[in-house]
Amino acid sequence: MIRITVWNEYKHEREYENIRKIYPDGIHGCIASFLKNEEDFEVKTATFDMPEHGLTEDVLQETDVLIIWSHALQNEFSDTVAERVQRHVLSGMGLIALHSAHFSKIMKRLLGTSMTLKWRHGDKEKLWCISPSHPIAKGIPEMIELPQEEMYGEFFDIPKPDDVVFTGWFSGGEVFRSGCTFSRGMGKIFYFQPGHEEYPIYFKSEIQQIIINAVRFCAPLGEGRKKMKCEKVEI
Ligand code: ZN
Repeated sequence: MIRITVWNEYKHEREYENIRKIYPDGIHGCIASFLKNEEDFEVKTATFDMPEHGLTEDVLQETDVLIIWSHALQNEFSDTVAERVQRHVLSGMGLIALHSAHFSKIMKRLLGTSMTLKWRHGDKEKLWCISPSHPIAKGIPEMIELPQEEMYGEFFDIPKPDDVVFTGWFSGGEVFRSGCTFSRGMGKIFYFQPGHEEYPIYFKSEIQQIIINAVRFCAPLGEGRKKMKCEKVEI
C-alpha cells in the first residue's frame, strides 16, 4: 500500500461561495476521492486549522507521499512544521506540491530558491507533455487543454529540475515549466502547476491521472521509507 496524506489550506473554499460550489468538500476532499479509487492507495487528509496543521510527527511517519495545496496562509504556516516536513522528505517521503504551493515554506526550504514566477488571472492553458517516456506521463495525451486556468509564466526561479515532464503555454505567449521533478535526500518531489481554486481543474480525468502517476513515482521504493530512520540532526 502507498500511504498518502492530502493536505490543503482549506481557506478559499470556506470563504468564497463560487469556490465552495466547485469544491464543496475542499480541494483535499476532491483529490482524496479520486485517489481512493486506486486499490493500493491508502488516503488521509489534513488541513491548516488542525493542531500542528495536521502534520504531526506521527502522521508524517505514516505518510509515504504528501500532497500539498496552499496559497493564502503561506506566511502563517508553522516554521517548525515546515522543517519537520523537510526532514521527512530528506528521509524518503515523497512530496507533490500543487499550483500555488510552489511558494510554500516547505518548497522554499527544500528547493532553496525564491520560487517566484509571473502570473495573471483568467487565462487558458495548453499543457504539453514534453517527456512522454517519463512514468508521470503514462497514459497522458500529448496535450491537455485547460479552457480556464491562471497563467504562471517564466522565469520560474527554481533550481534545475531532474526532469520537466510538462510545459504550459498560455494565451499571452508565456510558457512555464508546469510539471517538474526534483530529488532531495532520499525523497522525490513533483511540482505541478495546474489547479487554481476558481476552476474545476482537479475534476479533469487527465489531471487526476497525472496526480495518480506522480504518487506512484514519488512513493519510496520498496520498504525504503519504513526502514528509514527520521532523526533530527543538530548541525
Ligand atoms: Zn491560483
